[in-house]
Amino acid sequence: TLQVAMAFAFLSSVYGDFMQALGASQRIFELLDRSPLIKLNSGHVPADEDSFDGSVEFEKVNFSYPTRPQTNVLTDVSLKIEKGKTIALVGPSGGGKSTIFALIERFYDPLSGSITLGSKNLDLKSINTNWLHSKIALVSQEPVLFGGSVKENISFGLNEEIDLEQVIEASKLANAHEFIINFEKGYDTVVGERGIRLSGGQKQRIAIARALLVNPKLLLLDEATSALDSESENLVQEAIERAMKDRTVCVIAHRLSTVRNADRVIVLENGQIVEQGTHDELCSIDGIYKRLVLRQLMSKETNPIDS
Ligand code: ATP
Repeated sequence: TLQVAMAFAFLSSVYGDFMQALGASQRIFELLDRSPLIKLNSGHVPADEDSFDGSVEFEKVNFSYPTRPQTNVLTDVSLKIEKGKTIALVGPSGGGKSTIFALIERFYDPLSGSITLGSKNLDLKSINTNWLHSKIALVSQEPVLFGGSVKENISFGLNEEIDLEQVIEASKLANAHEFIINFEKGYDTVVGERGIRLSGGQKQRIAIARALLVNPKLLLLDEATSALDSESENLVQEAIERAMKDRTVCVIAHRLSTVRNADRVIVLENGQIVEQGTHDELCSIDGIYKRLVLRQLMSKETNPIDS
């Protein structure tokens, strides 16, 4: 689901003519019978560029998807992502983790409750979505790349003129530079259906390079569940750690190391927050988190903690 929403946001940011993008992405949604409610580029652009510092607050948010109005997907969700902190979302599949990301990106509005940004409590509903998307970056499990060059995939749609030097710098930090320059055409190599096929780990490192270039106030990260080969895994992990440094991060966590290092863990089950605290705090109570962690410790350590 998030992949589709991402493609949608990406198309809209890549093409200057957003009507064209809207047309294209709405077709994607029609195919999946899932229409987004929010018009892109509507809402106001805050006068003060720094009015969003990366922090987000959900207050009693209730939500169901427009296609399934009968089913509550989030029930009374209240949570805080504080500036500079790393918040990990965990819990069983279908619990609502990706939906929280979709609401932060304002692909949908809550049915009730509020989502506010920054210390000045900007109401997310009033904010221009394109502006919002220039302040938030999302690195998903399976990043969607479009059929352009590597350089275009890393830099397109960003506000300022980005030169190759900056793309290279971001790619180095994302551990992507080495494999990119090994392609015959380097940064001009075309990827996607008509070009070179990239591995999952390579796609992720390109998405991380892009996220670094965005220099977002808030990084949304969906950690990979499927094991990459271990060399790629280490390179991706190192790149992710660099991207998270000194930033506000909300991560859908599947690894024990990530939840251990997070400032706070939020456990979601059936659309409700059932536990919340640090890893140590949650391990000291006999709850769902402890069960998830024990299960992972007892199985091979590569198993994600939520499956
Ligand atoms: P996973 O770990 O499997 O990704 P999750 O915790 O991220 O799960 P969500 O993807 O947020 O959970 O899904 C929460 C609920 O909402 C599920 O019941 C799911 O089927 C439903 N859902 C998700 N996206 C949509 C959509 N676009 N339209 C309708 N229902 C949806």
